[in-house]
Amino acid sequence: MEFFSRKKKSISNSQAELYGHPLQFYGQPPLENMSLTEFEAFAVDRLKLLKTVENLGVSCVKLSDQYTRKLDSESKALHFVYRPDTDDRKPQTGPSDYEKRRKDHISHFILRLAYCQTEDLRRWFIQQEVDLFRYRFNNLSPKQKLEFLHKNNLQYDTVSVEDKKILQDKLVSSSYAVSGVKVEDQDFYKVPFQDALDLVRTRKVYLKAGYAYIPHQDIVTIVINDFRTRLSKALALTARSLPAVHSDERLQPLLNHLSHAYVGQDYSMQKNVGKISLEQIDPLSGKSFPLCMRQLHQSLRENHHLRHGGRMQYGLFLKGIGLSLEQALQFWRSEFIRGKVDADKFDKAYAYSVRHMFGKEGKRTDYTPYSCMKVILSNPPSQGDHHGCPFRHSDPELLKQKLQVYKVSPSGISQILELVKGMHFQLACQKYFDLTHNIEDANFSLNHPNQYFIESQKVLGGGKDIKREADTPQRSQESSATSGTSATSATGESAANASQGLAEMTEELDSFFQDA
Ligand code: SF4
Repeated sequence: MEFFSRKKKSISNSQAELYGHPLQFYGQPPLENMSLTEFEAFAVDRLKLLKTVENLGVSCVKLSDQYTRKLDSESKALHFVYRPDTDDRKPQTGPSDYEKRRKDHISHFILRLAYCQTEDLRRWFIQQEVDLFRYRFNNLSPKQKLEFLHKNNLQYDTVSVEDKKILQDKLVSSSYAVSGVKVEDQDFYKVPFQDALDLVRTRKVYLKAGYAYIPHQDIVTIVINDFRTRLSKALALTARSLPAVHSDERLQPLLNHLSHAYVGQDYSMQKNVGKISLEQIDPLSGKSFPLCMRQLHQSLRENHHLRHGGRMQYGLFLKGIGLSLEQALQFWRSEFIRGKVDADKFDKAYAYSVRHMFGKEGKRTDYTPYSCMKVILSNPPSQGDHHGCPFRHSDPELLKQKLQVYKVSPSGISQILELVKGMHFQLACQKYFDLTHNIEDANFSLNHPNQYFIESQKVLGGGKDIKREADTPQRSQESSATSGTSATSATGESAANASQGLAEMTEELDSFFQDA
């Protein structure tokens, strides 16, 4: 497919064909040229949309009015397709529809590249994409649904009028979807039963001789199954092509950081330096630290040592909440010399790395505290480590015991464990926030341990001094760790350089943090 300059708004036949319908199975990859700036901006926007899908999937009933309304408004804000024109008399697609469909198509494929890399990433991506697809399919008019089925060769056998008459009673009693509707006014499809397992499992369909008889309203289940299967296969195939993608030095760091991407406030800028005293850390850790940091703090106090993964995660968090370099040096030194490290060894082996974290050594980069996505998805803890996300990395039984020690109610623990089981780790953490702050709904979407801290301070009313100014800019984590390059304003060249730079810098910092 040839790429036409967007300025001319010229649309080729193949593009008109590809974007002729508001919904697609993403069967063909985009083949046009685009700038790295647009590449990154599209990916970040889709990530935001999928995060919203994830949050709504747990906080609302899927496809309820509230769910649909919120997803409509997020899709609209991010310039994605949100409510296809259902007026069939209008021409098929205008330029703005075209732009939205193009963005949808390209951004899906970019995230495929970023999210095919591990089993966890694939599972998360498929779940959110399937939910997004379901919402969009549901928004189509009956005519558009039929068009979609035809366009994608999903032409299931229609049950004949004669057969419907013969099977009338059975069809009515087996399918909830047809109660109150005349069978003769309804289209039924004959589908191999293995393609309709969701309906079979919930006993919502009539089965005969290996075929499920599905009313038109339930065909969405089949289409979604199909979408899930295709996406799962496509991700496996994409994973095989990763070595080729990774050899492109502009894309590799960008994709790596996208899969760990955190899209939100930047917590690297210290607005509250020195506003927290070292004496405040103990009480704050019990009241306002998320579980990951509470666990790290407790281990540090007990063992007078943390391995490098823990020092990175906790050290950057403390920096983000306002510890100055001098305070950080004092904090780590006083704790370490209570254990097996003497003051001399601390100064030689560890002080450099603390100064490095504050941008006072090496490349003098001001490092960004880790986001939840980074903590959850990278560098899993091994034996003897205390870093990571307890909701993701702890055994459920251990997590339960920990929550009991922290006086979370039995019903609260069950709710948290249920969310963990569904792999909604940040939502589990948010539930922990609600329960430990004794509130119904904190009304924020958790993305970052430092965000947890700030929100906690707001709730506890103690955030006057340490609360972050509201106008702190929003930017993605990967670009925030670089010298102020924003996700949407960077040029393509600088976006790639920024990501590359971040990878190098993180590696460099990691090496300084290795145990001496
Ligand atoms: Fe920490 Fe985020 Fe995990 Fe909560 S969800 S424990 S803030 S990493």
